Amino acid sequence: MKKLFILLFVLLIISCSIESNENKIGIVIHGGAGTILKENMTAELENSYMIKLEEAVTKGYDILKNGGSSKDAVEQAIRVMEDSPLFNAGVGAVLTNDERVSLDASFMDGENLNAGAIAGSSYVKNPISAAIAVMEKSPHVLLSSKGADDFAIEMGIDTVPNSYFITERRLNSLRRLKDKNVSYKDPFIKDSKFGTVGSVAIDIKGNISAGTSTGGTTNKIWGRIGDVPIIGAGNYANNECCGISATGWGEHFIRNVVAYDIAAQIIYKNENIVDASKKSLDKVKATGGDGGVIGLDKNGNVAMEFNTAGMYRAHIDNEGNITIKIYKD
Ligand code: ASP
Repeated sequence: MKKLFILLFVLLIISCSIESNENKIGIVIHGGAGTILKENMTAELENSYMIKLEEAVTKGYDILKNGGSSKDAVEQAIRVMEDSPLFNAGVGAVLTNDERVSLDASFMDGENLNAGAIAGSSYVKNPISAAIAVMEKSPHVLLSSKGADDFAIEMGIDTVPNSYFITERRLNSLRRLKDKNVSYKDPFIKDSKFGTVGSVAIDIKGNISAGTSTGGTTNKIWGRIGDVPIIGAGNYANNECCGISATGWGEHFIRNVVAYDIAAQIIYKNENIVDASKKSLDKVKATGGDGGVIGLDKNGNVAMEFNTAGMYRAHIDNEGNITIKIYKD
């Protein structure tokens, strides 16, 4: 009898320690921030966004729920949005001044601070997967243009003709700008919805991953690269604190090192993730930019902050509660 009690006690201790190794899972995604106003949206389009956001966030969450890694959750959630023409990433990305698509993406693994990114790709169907491949299969962090495409082909990653990415909607947006004689020197298109996509997830082991993918800004020229593939600007993950993915006027996110600035506030000042995000976005505003961020901290607390009219966003917490929003409230 005494032996049985000892055995039960030992089993209890083991199960408690297994329990304490389990972290709160969670995933958050964005589909870009910008001038997204209800009055400019049809019910049908709004519905399409809601459905796609739900599909993407649920795909990632299901991976986490089944014990999968935050890396896989982030990659798969982002691929859903890259494969949808609704967002400025993969098919449906915005066009460059010479009517092409040029794609940037990055990924960071918060467990070991490994990171990978591509910039200025013309042919990679799912840039987030190429960014992960740079991290896992090359000694580098950032590959650009032809080199990024050549690397992807060598790694057996799906490539497509550049025309695959081009949609009529984006072609019209570009041509409207050109008709209005908006110069490529004009810093940014005021009425553009940015539409970049991103995701941050935390898995059962407490590993945080962050990924971001974009076509950049409409009418871009001279091989312009934004914040998305710049680790610490448009993307950052560190298990010590949090994961962050950004969207917005990339030049200002680079200048304010936004994703890392949020992480640094949490690490060095013990700031909470929501206030840290707000403060970093205030800095973006102070230099003349705008946009938004999503993030999760190591305890699964979420931030979905922006200083634009709206941001496509969705979150599923540890209990499986889902939030999907587009406008301010
Ligand atoms: N941040 C992206 C860039 O500047 C644009 C966006 O978020 O839509 O390239």
